[in-house]
Amino acid sequence: MTKLLLLAGFAAAMVSAQNQPLLGENAVKVSDNVWAIMGFPNIGIIVGNRATLVVDTGLGSRNGATAARVAAKLAPGNQKLFLTTTHFHPEHAAGAGGFPAGTILIRDSVQQQEMEQHGQEMVEMFASRSAQQKELLADASLRTPDITFDTELKLDLGGVTARLLWFGGAHTKGDELTFVEPDRTLISGDVVQNKVVPNIFREGGTPSSWLAVLDKVMALNALHVLPDHSAPGDGSMVAQEKGFISDLQHSALELKTRGISAEDAARQLGAEFKTKYPDWPNMNVAGFVRSIYSE
Ligand SMILES: [Zn+2]
Ligand SMILES: [Zn+2]
Repeated sequence: MTKLLLLAGFAAAMVSAQNQPLLGENAVKVSDNVWAIMGFPNIGIIVGNRATLVVDTGLGSRNGATAARVAAKLAPGNQKLFLTTTHFHPEHAAGAGGFPAGTILIRDSVQQQEMEQHGQEMVEMFASRSAQQKELLADASLRTPDITFDTELKLDLGGVTARLLWFGGAHTKGDELTFVEPDRTLISGDVVQNKVVPNIFREGGTPSSWLAVLDKVMALNALHVLPDHSAPGDGSMVAQEKGFISDLQHSALELKTRGISAEDAARQLGAEFKTKYPDWPNMNVAGFVRSIYSE
């Protein structure tokens, strides 16, 4: 399949699935050993000769079961199933209960701390958003991980290695990245997105810590990037993310120095950046400008 066709397929899958809380049964190929269910959020599936790793669960057990079923179809012979989560928010982590018994759940310890402090509260918040989300989360169980790690855990899946990485706070404190070798595919969560204005959730990271994380991500030299809430792309997405955050930080701090309020700065920069980044679908920078002002 040509790259163009592949990208067109992604785009079509994205449009229909991006905000739909029920995951579909189809996976698209991202690289030699990496597949994705495009949805809310995109689920990464890394298939080795011996074991499979799923990254993120979908919202609630029903979606978790779908992700596990798709993973099993991709590698029917693999006996071992690992699961990890990009961060503690419910559409990424609250579907663990749908995975078969014996699934080995792994996440970084900072993320697990956030889960213990705010996981249940987030499930309730998401459940209050619609009748469908309430139903999907009714049986959500916040399973305790089998393994936690501090900064890196290497998983040998048989011919493929997944490096689970914690580089610091960005969208949340515990943002986890997965780097697949030899594919050089980065499963980036919210840390690197495709033309999506970044968002720091509550007391997650700071704009500067996000940039520091991106410096470490740059050093991985990724060839493919699978983000959680936008379309996959190539390694240039990392530099694009870093460029956007640096640009916004620089511009906002300049206005702050001139005594302009965060609200006015957000209005002004929202309009300016819309022209500067014309192919970004949404340019609501108010939240991130507030984060820059308060750092
Ligand atoms: Zn999130
Ligand atoms: Zn999310």
